[in-house]
Amino acid sequence: MLIGLDFDNTIVRYDRLFHRLAVERSLIPASLPATKQSVRDYLRAAGREDDWTELQGIAYGPRIVDAEPWPGVLEFLGRCWDAGVQVAVVSHKTKHPYRGEKHDLHTAAHRFLESHGLYDLGLSRDRVFLELTLAEKLARIGSLRCSAFVDDLPEVLGERLFPAGVQKILFDPSNAQAAPTDGTRVNSWPQCGDMLLAARRMSA
Ligand SMILES: [Mg+2]
Repeated sequence: MLIGLDFDNTIVRYDRLFHRLAVERSLIPASLPATKQSVRDYLRAAGREDDWTELQGIAYGPRIVDAEPWPGVLEFLGRCWDAGVQVAVVSHKTKHPYRGEKHDLHTAAHRFLESHGLYDLGLSRDRVFLELTLAEKLARIGSLRCSAFVDDLPEVLGERLFPAGVQKILFDPSNAQAAPTDGTRVNSWPQCGDMLLAARRMSA
């Protein structure tokens, strides 16, 4: 059994990092709620889309190690390891940001996984696939024959090219999305683990 995981906003939580980066640059008032969405909404409403794009290059690049693993994701990997379930990361990620300095976003992603100990929890470097396009991401999920795939974006799970036979799990920690019609929605990593690993015990 192989479980596929998205990377940005599924494994990695950027909320506090975006808030910190924006405050450091005096782009937002410090009193703004510390979420990625509130920072984005504030900058867009202020007509500062370019600043938002540039912040993303920094957050996904040189400052990524200051982001956090979502609560419970490390324990989830530990549970997979204990259960003998393999895990792969499949992300759609450009090599460089759209704007600003030419940071290597792929190297940065590996730095995050390494510095937060995910490579010590049974995730192997050669099971981390950073694909340049969404189509390549979907093809990878299919060629790996993932039993299930966890992603924070309903539009990824709802893609026409999403491979058949892969259980769709929407990671929706803020409880803001509708459940996928042909999949399952979870609000936390413990819930995701209970569902996927308990189902495995029953089928064993
Ligand atoms: Mg994502």
